[in-house]
Parts: sequence; structure tokens; C-alpha cells
Amino acid sequence: MIIWAFIFLLSANVLVGAQEAPGASESSSKHIIILKKKDSSSDTIASESRLESRKRRFDDAHIEDSSHDQNLQNEKMTQAKRMKADKPAQASELFRFIHDSYTQRRGNPAMYEIFCRDCRKSLMYYQKDGPGRLLRCYLDRIRAPQDLVDRQKEKFSVSESRRLRCKDCETIIGWPMIYKSENRPAYNMDQGKFYFNDITSRVTKKAKDE
Ligand SMILES: [Zn+2]
Repeated sequence: MIIWAFIFLLSANVLVGAQEAPGASESSSKHIIILKKKDSSSDTIASESRLESRKRRFDDAHIEDSSHDQNLQNEKMTQAKRMKADKPAQASELFRFIHDSYTQRRGNPAMYEIFCRDCRKSLMYYQKDGPGRLLRCYLDRIRAPQDLVDRQKEKFSVSESRRLRCKDCETIIGWPMIYKSENRPAYNMDQGKFYFNDITSRVTKKAKDE
């Protein structure tokens, strides 16, 4: 129906145009032709309206652009948040050594990243105070991941507390123990089940940068 009306208007205009002003049919925009039929003095109006609609299209495009930018920015922010949540180990609080009476007694701390020997999965970041082999990991020196850090808030029992286990291959790496002379919860580390990287230089570098 609309198409018929349009065709009617169009052909009527061509006739009028042919009678009144030869060359009007050269006009490329159908929109303009229809306007012309309604009002013979509408040339200016038509071009104005064409300008107007161009401007609107430009504005719309611009608005779309900026909302697209906004979306991108939002996406980036969510991504950053997600990365922060996924990697508590990289958070800046990890890169500050705990200095307390234990540290003073034992000497300069080091930061280790401890891995499962069986599957090479990173198990945790651990602050090792002073020299010597890594026989025990004290709960209060585990710096990441957060679920292991949070274990120090739980009630600790040698017989009932969870063991230190690789999350990937389930190998048991450490057994709950209390270091008696300090009455301090720890994991007795199974020496054949882990290895570590000393990442102390990364920690001190990060601390310097801040
Ligand atoms: Zn493993």
C-alpha cells in the first residue's frame, strides 16, 4: 500500500516537475522530490532538511562511537578486576615482606614460589625467613594464593586440619604440624614433592619501584 502511494507520488511529481521546471527530476533524492510536490518553494527546505538529516546521522554515529568507547573502557576495567581476582599472588601486598619478631630472630627474608614436583603447578608464594633448608612452611608466612593464606584464620589441628595438597594432581606436599618452640602452625614439607624458585629479587625490585 505504502509502496503504491510512493510510486503514485513519484510519478505525479515527475509530471509536475516536467510541467513546472524541467530538470527538477534530475534531483537524486526521492525525499526532496516529494517535498517539492507539496511546496514549490521548498528547494531550500529540502536541502536544509538533507543537511539536517546528514548532521543527525553524523551525531548518531558520533554517539555510537563514544558509547562504543565507553563499552571498551568498561570491558577493560572488568578485565582488570578479573585479573586481580585471579592473581592475588601478583597483588602488591604480596611484594612486601612481613617483618616481625620471627623475621628478626631468623634473619633476612626471601620469597619463594613453590611448585608441585609431579605436575609443576605453582602451589604458593612463601616468605622464608633466614637461611637454611625449607623444612617447614609456617601458615603465617604463606602469601598467596588467598585460600591458603586464609587457612591461618581457621582453627588449626594437627590431626584434623587439611593437608597441603596440589590442586592439580592432588599430591600431598605438606602435613599439618605445630612447631613446638614457637607454638606455630606449619606444614611439614615432603622434601621429594616440591621445588621452588627464589623470587626475592622480584620482590625487592617491586618494593623499590613503589
Ligand atoms: Zn601437582
